[in-house]
Formats: sequence, structure tokens, C-alpha cells
Amino acid sequence: MKNASTREVLIRLWPKIRPFKGRLLGGVILLALTTTLDLLGPILIGKAADSVVASPPDLNQLWVVCGAFLALISAKAISEMAQAYTIQTTGLLVTQRLRAEVFDRLIRYKLTYFDEHSSGRLITRVVNDVRSLSELFSASMSVLALDVMIIIGTIISMLVLDWKLAGVVLLTFPLVIWVIIHFGDRLAAAYKEARNRLSEINSFLGENIAAMSTIHRLAAEQAREKSFETVVNRHQAALVQSIEAYAQVQPWANVLNGIAMGSLLGVGGYWVLEGQIKVGILVAFLAYIRNLFQPIRDLVEKYNVVLSAFVSAERVAQVFEEDVEELGEDQTIPQGVLKPCSVRFKQVSFKYQSRTEMALNEVSFDLEAGKRLAIVGATGSGKSTIAKLLLRFYENQMGEIRLGEVPISQWSTRALRTHVGFIPQDVYLFEGTVRDNLMLSKTDLADPFLIEQCKKAQLWDYIEKRGGLDLKIVECGHNLSLGERQLLSFARTLVLNPEILVMDEATASLDNASEARLMKAVEELLKGRTSIIIAHRLSTIENCHKVILLEKGELKEQGTIPELIEQKGLFAQFYEFYRKDHQKS
Ligand code: ATP
Ligand code: MG
Repeated sequence: MKNASTREVLIRLWPKIRPFKGRLLGGVILLALTTTLDLLGPILIGKAADSVVASPPDLNQLWVVCGAFLALISAKAISEMAQAYTIQTTGLLVTQRLRAEVFDRLIRYKLTYFDEHSSGRLITRVVNDVRSLSELFSASMSVLALDVMIIIGTIISMLVLDWKLAGVVLLTFPLVIWVIIHFGDRLAAAYKEARNRLSEINSFLGENIAAMSTIHRLAAEQAREKSFETVVNRHQAALVQSIEAYAQVQPWANVLNGIAMGSLLGVGGYWVLEGQIKVGILVAFLAYIRNLFQPIRDLVEKYNVVLSAFVSAERVAQVFEEDVEELGEDQTIPQGVLKPCSVRFKQVSFKYQSRTEMALNEVSFDLEAGKRLAIVGATGSGKSTIAKLLLRFYENQMGEIRLGEVPISQWSTRALRTHVGFIPQDVYLFEGTVRDNLMLSKTDLADPFLIEQCKKAQLWDYIEKRGGLDLKIVECGHNLSLGERQLLSFARTLVLNPEILVMDEATASLDNASEARLMKAVEELLKGRTSIIIAHRLSTIENCHKVILLEKGELKEQGTIPELIEQKGLFAQFYEFYRKDHQKS
């Protein structure tokens, strides 16, 4: 997709813009009408001047010309209004539609994409790039097209009126084109740099605002401030470059205008005196000359906007190129799958793209339907990776994962994720209320049902007096304790009622009373389901039918708890450690 030509990019984006083609066409027609009306003005002014200087002065013609001029101005005002409204609203509609489509696409990207792209860049893409692209269809395009049409129309009208005088006026015109292209390019480069720097600012802010408590905890305010200053300064430097280029445009335009005007007055005035041309022609040319030089600044600015819009168009088109997850429509489980399901990993290997070492290496285990499996192992041993592969957040590179005896590649992703509930280590809560967070994927649930799930998850006691389902949750759930967030995440899973449950236990250690409460909630969650628990607590391991132990991505031990204790291997050591730790607390 890199270096795609403008044409290719527009062809790719056309389907998104096609629904608005009627409005766009209407805008262009109105644009042409406004331009034509604009060009008729100087001709009428010239005619008025001729009526005045004629001997004897032709008053009748003067009144007719004045009347026509008034009618022309009114018609132009109406046409301008209609054109501005049509084109601007089309721009807005295109922006809105593209933004929705870009987000729609982003939200279905494979998770690997987000491992490599910062959120700030993506936000810039949805917000700034879409806006910049839409400017093509709104203000810029209309002004640009209007200016270009007026300039071309003016040149033609001048040539028709008097080609020799037109030649005198247009001597400086090649310089006008040079000014537009030279400064337009400089502005475009500076703005491109500024936009990249802006997305750096967005990334920085997004990351740091989310991590505010960590910054305060580590007393890192000053260092962060300094880093932010550097990022802001880079953005500012790019903007200064654009100002430098922009500041030179108007003086250039004025000088060129002055030269053209001087030549017109000198040569044109002399030719009038010589009787070679009528004074009306000179007056019309004086009115036309304004059309030629006034739009230069506008053109430089808009030319740059159009260049930026093409860069943005390429980036927006890229959004639609990236691989997305095929969720599939079907939520029903594949044929031949019995409820509840068994889980089987057969020689599964996996490596994260950015890493050289394997995260999982030929891991095999079986979990019968309705049974509980505990996964234990040191940090980084690959426990969470097992869960991510089972849910197809990532695709395993070797081996096979079967759910209910059917390879997960044959499940639709939607069905898979409806039937396998996942409670991750780090719970993410959305801004809104408890109710909003419980109804993320199902929106038609009654309050009594939601309250019942909160009670089962042992959450209700904590939130009942604080507003219950209406309790406001701030971004990331920062106004809830870690334990409360965990319980809310349990309630969220109970609402979905999955067949299989994968729980990546949070590592925070709890006091005995809270632990007992949490265990009660966990029991409620696991009841009647095939469960995989990535365990950090003795209490959760103890109720499991089977345990597997991972070390650096390899499965080292598996069996029932008594079997593993008997083996006196790593698990036996872990178990002893957990037991002592548990007794202490
Ligand atoms: P913990 O007990 O700390 O949660 P874990 O056993 O769950 O650890 P995993 O999260 O499965 O460990 O990670 C296994 C290995 O893969 C680690 O070395 C980790 O650094 C790496 N890893 C995990 N996620 C990614 C990722 N998105 N990109 C690259 N490497 C990753
Ligand atoms: Mg983990």
C-alpha cells in the first residue's frame, strides 16, 4: 500500500464516498454557476464605463446595465449560499461516515496489530486524517475549484476582450504559478511534519494520563514534564516552518499584483489615449486583475490542504487494507460439539511476532468436559498465552487446539468467544455505569437479572449503597478497588453465561475475609462449566481436578495434585511455597 498513487487511493476510497455523489455533483454545478456569474461582473462594469464616456453619454444603456448588474449580484449571492451549504454539509456527512467506518474497521483488527501501533497514531487517524480528507470535499475543494475556475475564466475573458492587453497583464502570471507551487509544497511538508508531531503529542498524553497514578507514585512528574516539553517543541518547530512559508506568500502576491497593475495602467492607458482600445476595456481589465492575484494566498493554502488530504487519504485507505478478524455471524456452536465442552491442546507452539524465543513450545494437555484445570508457573512462563490462543486473540503457529473435539479454526470467532468466557488478569472497565459495563454485548437485560448476577459475583454488597447498577464508573474503573473491579468482571462474565471459563487470576494478595468472598464468587462462576484457571492462589488450585505446570513455555509437569506432590518436582515446591504463604496470611 506504500507509495500507492493518488488514483489508486481514490479508487479504494470511492465506495465510501459514492453514496454522496449526488450531493457532490450538485455542489460542482452550483460552483460552476457561481463562477460564471462572477465573470460576467467586470464585463457589465466595462459596459457601464463605456455608456458614461460615450458622446453623448448613453444614460438608457447605463440604467439597463446597472439593473442587470444588481440582478447579477443577487443571483450570485443566492448561488454562492446554496453552493457553500451543499458542499460544506457534504463534507460533514463524508467525515461522519468515514469516521464511523474507520472505527468499525479498527475495532475488528487482529490484536497483533495493537502490539505494534500506538493508540495516539490510531486516534490521529480516526480524528485528524479523516477530517483532513473530508476537507477535500468541503471548504478547500470548493474554494480551490472556485479560485481555479475564476482564474481560468478571467484569463479567457481577458483574451476574448483584448488579447494584446491580456498578454501585457499575464506577463507575470508564470511567477504566480511558481509562488503557488513553491510555497504550497513548503507548507505541505511543514504541515505533514506538524501532523506527525501532533500524533506524538496525542500518544504521549494518552499514555501519561492513563498512567497518572504510576507517575505520581514514582515521583516522575518533572521527568515527564520535560519529555512533554520536548514533544511539544518539536511540534512547534514544524509549525514555525509553516508560518515562515506562509508569511512570504502575501508580499509576493502584492508585488506581482503591483507589477501587473502598473503594466496595465501604463500600456492600457497609453492605448486608450492612442484610441486603440475603449476605456471600458481598461476598466473591465482593472476589475479582472483582482480575480487573478487575490486568490494567490488562498490557493497556496488550499493547494497544501489538498496535498495533505491526499496523504491522509492514503492513510485512511490503509485502514481498510489491514487484516481484520472474521467474526462470522453464527453464534451457534459447530456440529458435533457436546455441551459442556472438552478442551485439548495438541503440540501447540507459538511465538509473538516481536520476539525471538517461543512463548509456548509443543504444549499438550487434555481437559475433560465439566472438569477444572489449573495452570501454574513462574511469571512469563506462558500461562496467559494459553488463554489468548484458546480465544484466538492470536493464532498458534503449530499444533492444534480443539474445543469439544472440533479444532477452534472451525469455530466462528463469534461463537468461540460467546462460548468461552475469559476473565483476564487486568480488568478493563469502561466509563459509564455498572449497568453499562454489564451490558457490553447484550443490551436487552432486565435490572433484576443483572442484580442477581452481581449478588452471585459477591459484588452487590459493595455497590448497593453507592448507587447499585447506576454507580458511575470512571475511565478504566479507577474509582473501584482492584478487588471490586475483579468482582465486576466476574459479574460481567456471569451475564454472558459461557460454557467454558478461562480465568487469569489477578495476583494481588487478599486478606482472609476477602479471599473467602472471592472464592465464593469464583465457585459460583465455575459451577457446571469446564474451567481453566491460571492460578496464583492455593485456594483456587485446591479445587481443581488437574494441574499443569509451565516453565519458559514448556509443559514440565501435569497430573492431579496428589500425583504432582508425589513426583516431588517443581509443583511440589510451588505447592509447599503457596501453602506456607497461605498459612502466614
Ligand atoms: P504472568 O504470571 O506474569 O502473568 P504469564 O505466564 O502469563 O506471566 P505470558 O503473558 O503468557 O506469561 O507471557 C509469556 C511470554 O511472552 C513472556 O516472555 C512475555 O514477555 C511474552 N509476551 C506476552 N505478551 C506479549 C506480546 N503481546 N508481545 C510480545 N511478547 C509477549
Ligand atoms: Mg499472565
